[in-house]
Amino acid sequence: MTELPSTEMETAYIGMGSNLGDKLMNCRKAIGLIDNIDCCKVKTQSRFYRTEPVGVVSQDWYVNGVIRIETGLSAHELLSFLLSVETGMGRVRRRKWETRVIDLDILLYGNRVMSEKNLTVPHPLMHERRFVLIPMVELDPDLVHPVLGRTMAELLDSLLEEGQGIIPLREGRCGS
Ligand code: AMP
Repeated sequence: MTELPSTEMETAYIGMGSNLGDKLMNCRKAIGLIDNIDCCKVKTQSRFYRTEPVGVVSQDWYVNGVIRIETGLSAHELLSFLLSVETGMGRVRRRKWETRVIDLDILLYGNRVMSEKNLTVPHPLMHERRFVLIPMVELDPDLVHPVLGRTMAELLDSLLEEGQGIIPLREGRCGS
């Protein structure tokens, strides 16, 4: 599928998570860095949540949240930018699922459906994760997943809670 020229604006949803260091500060810093470039503006942001690690045992709980942005970047440009933010914040990639200072995922890029080597949109796991769907429902419950054809609220309703603990964070407090 061809991408929009970079001059046109698109709405994208970015999921973020941290489970290393000052997790809340890391998420806030990432939001600031994303908002700071000309071609990305943060429009709304969910609350932050403390969330149980999914897919691994014996890791610290995460702080997660979702933002909605308007961007003039193509999906690939946005991915490169987010990876540069992760690297700039000190993320080192060794193994999948490992502890991370910051993780930034493109959840949705408009209604685009892309499945390429380095980029899959919608994010292939977003509909399975309560730490994504709960903030998505907070931001836009009626938004329809472009592949599954169901709203964020419907997708959340069909997810089991087991093993996916999630607690809204009181602003300014994190704990571990
Ligand atoms: P991870 O940091 O473990 O989430 O994996 C990051 C890698 O996943 C990136 O290098 C991307 O090439 C790839 N990737 C594929 N689809 C996406 C997406 N929708 N958002 C972010 N990364 C993606």
